[in-house]
Amino acid sequence: MQEIRMVDLKTQYQRLKSELDVAIAQVLESTQFIKGPEVKRFEENLARYMGAKQVIACANGTDALQIAMMALGYEPGDEVITADFTYIATAEVIALLRLKPVLVDVNPETFTIDPSAIEKAITPKTRAIVPVHLFGQSADMEGVMKVAKKHNLDVIEDNAQAIGADYTFSDGRKQKAGTIGTIGTTSFFPSKNLGCFGDGGALFTNDDALAAKIRMIANHGQSTQYIHDEIGVNSRLDTLQAAILDIKLKYLNDFAARRVKVADYYDKAFGGLKNAQIPVRAPYSNHVFHQYTLKIKNINRDEVRRKLADKGIPSMIYYPLPMHVQKAYKDERYKEGAFPVSEELCKSVLSLPIHTEFNEEELKYIAETFINIVK
Ligand SMILES: *Cc1c(COP(=O)(O)O)cnc(C)c1O
Repeated sequence: MQEIRMVDLKTQYQRLKSELDVAIAQVLESTQFIKGPEVKRFEENLARYMGAKQVIACANGTDALQIAMMALGYEPGDEVITADFTYIATAEVIALLRLKPVLVDVNPETFTIDPSAIEKAITPKTRAIVPVHLFGQSADMEGVMKVAKKHNLDVIEDNAQAIGADYTFSDGRKQKAGTIGTIGTTSFFPSKNLGCFGDGGALFTNDDALAAKIRMIANHGQSTQYIHDEIGVNSRLDTLQAAILDIKLKYLNDFAARRVKVADYYDKAFGGLKNAQIPVRAPYSNHVFHQYTLKIKNINRDEVRRKLADKGIPSMIYYPLPMHVQKAYKDERYKEGAFPVSEELCKSVLSLPIHTEFNEEELKYIAETFINIVK
């Protein structure tokens, strides 16, 4: 059996190598490394896949969030509400733009932002809500959109972890996570469900005027060459990355199906354990399993990790600290205990290896080893 990895990019590359290498070689031959035709083609194909009117590619998922907030024209001191339990990028860009991050707790089952907690955090200065579609499933967007409409707020969906997931509204209508709010953002970091061979990101919107503004801000605030109407940033997706992503996009549904197969295997094996709780699948979203995250109960999580590592099985803790406890984001508004669900999750979550390249033998080994350790 080969070495077990959290994410196996190498085997995936080898499987798709013939197609990827041709696409890469074409870009090298063309030498159009910036703004080559592959970028536009990928934007159009991704827009079609997402069912979004406009896709604007950029340099990474953190930039995508920042550009979204710049395009929506917030002023220093405006408040942006997001989840306390998330990756740092979400709160980071809010703070960088001198906006005020307002944190709220998450749902203990789905780990995503709790719409009823959002409502309580709204003030006259609130401008936007940033739900994060964590670990591969959409946040409760119907709940989020209801609060946003009532209070006239923008919604920026951080969809770095759930690209391809479908949200189902209560009337049965389906829409891709990331295309429901004012703007959606994503990341093509190599280990994401749609990953390139370096950094990349994108924004989604159905508003043509907003898309034009986003495009301008991502390109130095430039309307025509050397004419700058806004303060912008330099955030581009390289042509090489676009060419790679355009190939991988064709396999995105297959990647998701392969991840779900791993999750189904784990669920079946771990469903009855008393010291570990399998991930809860929300009724309103399918799960594309960016992570397979269990909650460890009653026993010592670090010991579980150590014992797994001894048997050659890596595991990760996403995330070990809630946002309000991070040194850089310390704020007297938030004492320890302010977000009990988020704090409890940081103490109990454990993510097991999940990717597109597992075989039955490896899954059996991981499942049996994990059961022996936690039972
Ligand atoms: C990965 C990630 C980002 C940032 O993406 P980068 O491309 O690494 O900048 C933002 N938000 C979430 C939730 C992420 O998982």
